[in-house]
Amino acid sequence: MSILNIRKLFNKAGLVKKYNSVYKYIYYENAQFVCHYCGVSADTVDHVPPLSCYEDAKIYSNIDFVKIPCCRECNSLAGNKFHLNIFERNEFLFNRYKKRYKKLLNMPTWDKKDLKELGSSLRKKIKNDLNRKNIIEERINFIKNNLTENFAL
Ligand SMILES: [Zn+2]
Repeated sequence: MSILNIRKLFNKAGLVKKYNSVYKYIYYENAQFVCHYCGVSADTVDHVPPLSCYEDAKIYSNIDFVKIPCCRECNSLAGNKFHLNIFERNEFLFNRYKKRYKKLLNMPTWDKKDLKELGSSLRKKIKNDLNRKNIIEERINFIKNNLTENFAL
């Protein structure tokens, strides 16, 4: 691990220690172990607004400091971006995932007959990519549904 990463971890631990108790832990629909943003299993906690923005965010009135279950990928993509609420983070992640997986999402669909004509290693690769594409599409749709839901805090 590089010095920079160690420093980052150290800073994060310091911020958690300093501000964690201000943030209220919330779940949606009792989904403690599901990433609030994309719906896959959650193994991290996302602080909104981010811990690193706490000092800047607290000058705004009507800000709820919340923490929610989150997957590693959403957490690291949204990271320290200055979002004041979950809705802003949802919107950011929706666009970010579409951009990040653009190539995969633009991949054409294949019918079984065409797949059969391919060599086995290429067929395996394409099937694998189609699988990944499905998963990403499901996650993006999950984020999209969050955007249309009206979740008042
Ligand atoms: Zn996620």
